[in-house]
Amino acid sequence: MGLGHDTHRIRPGGPLRLGGIDIPHDRELIGHSDADVLLHAITDALLGAAALGDIGQMFPDTDLAHRGRDSAEMLRAALDAVRALGWRVVNLDCVVCAQRPKLLPYRQLIRQRLADIMGIEPEQIGLKGKTGESVGPVGREEAIEAMCVVLLASEM
Ligand code: MG
Repeated sequence: MGLGHDTHRIRPGGPLRLGGIDIPHDRELIGHSDADVLLHAITDALLGAAALGDIGQMFPDTDLAHRGRDSAEMLRAALDAVRALGWRVVNLDCVVCAQRPKLLPYRQLIRQRLADIMGIEPEQIGLKGKTGESVGPVGREEAIEAMCVVLLASEM
């Protein structure tokens, strides 16, 4: 099993790119790629589970090729590397910590999009939203965090 975590700062703007979809919002995430904090956490969980390092190693942010890059591509590339070692995804569970917006209205959409990107079923994907209780970087709307655990099974 693997654990992934990521944090990205937010700034005024929008839409909010999260979980591979664009959510209408008055803030957006800042980063070298498209800054999709949830996809980055999932990518790191997958790479961690297969002991393949991390997203920064696979896609260095010093590389101009990754600027503004679609994080779905990076997730697919990580998954390809994991599958090449004989692993398949059993399930994953994710938490997104954001003071705003509420995640619930977008939960099914994001789960479906994640399933499409990863070639699995939405039923294999848990997704929960938490606020920052108005304290800390998340609560003050300075950042959004995401966490993911993923379980892999050997195809051998
Ligand atoms: Mg990131």
